[in-house]
Amino acid sequence: MVNANFRINDDGVLEQKCNKHHLNFPDENPWMPFNTDYFYKHNTCKTGLFPTCIRCWGIKTDKWQKDNPEAKRISKKKYDAKDERVLIRREYATELRKTDYHKKYYHANSDQFKQYNYQHTNHRITKEEWIACKQYFNNCCAYCGLPIEDHIGKYNGKVKQRDFQKDHFYHDGGNQLNNCIPSCKKCNTRKWQFDFEEWYKKQPFYSKERYNCIIQWLTEDCYQYMKFE
Ligand SMILES: [Zn+2]
Ligand SMILES: [Zn+2]
Repeated sequence: MVNANFRINDDGVLEQKCNKHHLNFPDENPWMPFNTDYFYKHNTCKTGLFPTCIRCWGIKTDKWQKDNPEAKRISKKKYDAKDERVLIRREYATELRKTDYHKKYYHANSDQFKQYNYQHTNHRITKEEWIACKQYFNNCCAYCGLPIEDHIGKYNGKVKQRDFQKDHFYHDGGNQLNNCIPSCKKCNTRKWQFDFEEWYKKQPFYSKERYNCIIQWLTEDCYQYMKFE
């Protein structure tokens, strides 16, 4: 599968070159990890994902909708229906995870799952960057303020402290430190794909101070710690 549009980067991650990036973002690196953070799924495409990145695809769709205003209404309907299907599939997947079949399957393929999770999240952040990021937020969940000592989970029946998750602040954003927020597992799940502004202000644990801290980190302070390649 490695050809002109694919390469393996220095971290061993498969990347695809967006075929429209040079038109839309000529100053940006067109290579992105080959996963659904960057490319939509495409069932009839041989590779499984679109050759155009999510952002470029959005530009193309906006343009098409402007040129075809009457089609927008229909396509929105379709989109809503698709969203609902995704939700149903997610619920189904959650149920499935509780079954013995899934447990067996997971154990038999755990390496692949680990590999997928590794590739799917966070691989552009170094250990040092991640430590600095957590320290910036006083080692508390940036959203709800839960201290990391209280972030616990069960492993093989034993209760242990667990690391925070590297939340993708912008769901469609990159895998680097400037899109990374330390989040407890609950907040990571709660936030899911929702828009931060809208989502955060509705939460019972909303805090203006933490809100400002998050914005300050993403817009300015994270760059002090970012290691550029
Ligand atoms: Zn692109
Ligand atoms: Zn939290």
